[in-house]
Amino acid sequence: MRTVMAIVLAAAVPLAFAACKSGGDQPKKCESCEKAKSANGWCADCKVGFRDGEKMKCPSCHAAATGKGGWCDGCGKGYKGGKETKCKGCAEAAATGGTCPT
Ligand SMILES: [Zn+2]
Ligand SMILES: [Zn+2]
Ligand SMILES: [Zn+2]
Repeated sequence: MRTVMAIVLAAAVPLAFAACKSGGDQPKKCESCEKAKSANGWCADCKVGFRDGEKMKCPSCHAAATGKGGWCDGCGKGYKGGKETKCKGCAEAAATGGTCPT
């Protein structure tokens, strides 16, 4: 009985060590980030988005910049047809398909 236990333990220890090492040393590569980069998408795991290779940390801005448009209250700016705008009316009009009241 004792020898069996010793063999099991001896086999288990190097395996656990190898599993731990492979996850620790390598630089982190996030698959959904890679996907997001090529598709102007958003990575929910890292809370970061990409547009034309540039990182965007605000989800509302990212959605507005990569979609038709929209306004981000948190940043005080919006996007219209992929371009940044400081006019809230223009940004909201771009999102809804309407026209800017101002
Ligand atoms: Zn990621
Ligand atoms: Zn924003
Ligand atoms: Zn406007």
